[in-house]
Amino acid sequence: MTAILSACATGTYNATNKVYKQQAKAFANEIKKQPADIDSTKTAAWVGTTNFGMRKPNFVIIHHTAQNGCDSTLRTFTLPRTQVSAHYVICKDGTVQHMLNDYLRAWHAGAGRWGNVTDINSSSIGIELDNNGFEPFTEAQINNLLIVLKTLKKNYGIPTANFIGHADIAPSRKVDPNRYFPWQQLAANGFGYWYDTTKTKAPENFNAIQALRIIGYDTRDSIAAIKAFKLHFVQQDSAAVLSVQDRNIIYDLYKKY
Ligand SMILES: [Zn+2]
Repeated sequence: MTAILSACATGTYNATNKVYKQQAKAFANEIKKQPADIDSTKTAAWVGTTNFGMRKPNFVIIHHTAQNGCDSTLRTFTLPRTQVSAHYVICKDGTVQHMLNDYLRAWHAGAGRWGNVTDINSSSIGIELDNNGFEPFTEAQINNLLIVLKTLKKNYGIPTANFIGHADIAPSRKVDPNRYFPWQQLAANGFGYWYDTTKTKAPENFNAIQALRIIGYDTRDSIAAIKAFKLHFVQQDSAAVLSVQDRNIIYDLYKKY
């Protein structure tokens, strides 16, 4: 991974890098603390177990930046007042900018839900692709994204189903990554699922909304859930209604989750 990391930002970000170091150190000190007794009626002496590890991310959430250029995004993610960040930013030329240790919690997902997981930031890695929101992604971007995803999947044992988009977890709020994002190519590489409807036909009584819920979508706003599903799996048709083919796609997909 080191080979594709960018060196372009050094210098400009000396001051914010210092802030990063200070904050990381404060968290390290927090972890080192012997936990306080959570129940004051108990007075047993602290016995620390010898058997533990770090909590690991279990999801990858993919975004587009909706900005014009990586420089803007690096600036946004290093300004405290924006309160937003991601672990990785991938620029149009393929440069991978790692901005936060994978074990720490980035602020990329916001309010969202996937299945019964509601604190997505605590359990995920956020990856931002430099893109204004209305254009295709570059080949260099996707190639290096696949390299990053491979490493993350291997290092943390992230399940195939858990590589998803921001719009998937926040259907009524977000539309990223845009409809040009190659989800089928990702699935072919083991990141997320795709469908094959050549031999699939949804039964008459098939409840497609319930199936979207099983896949993970927050279906409390069913129109928003349909739109998010189509942005990911149909892409060329953004209408907020389910055609016969859309129902067949959901029927084929939901059995994989
Ligand atoms: Zn996003």
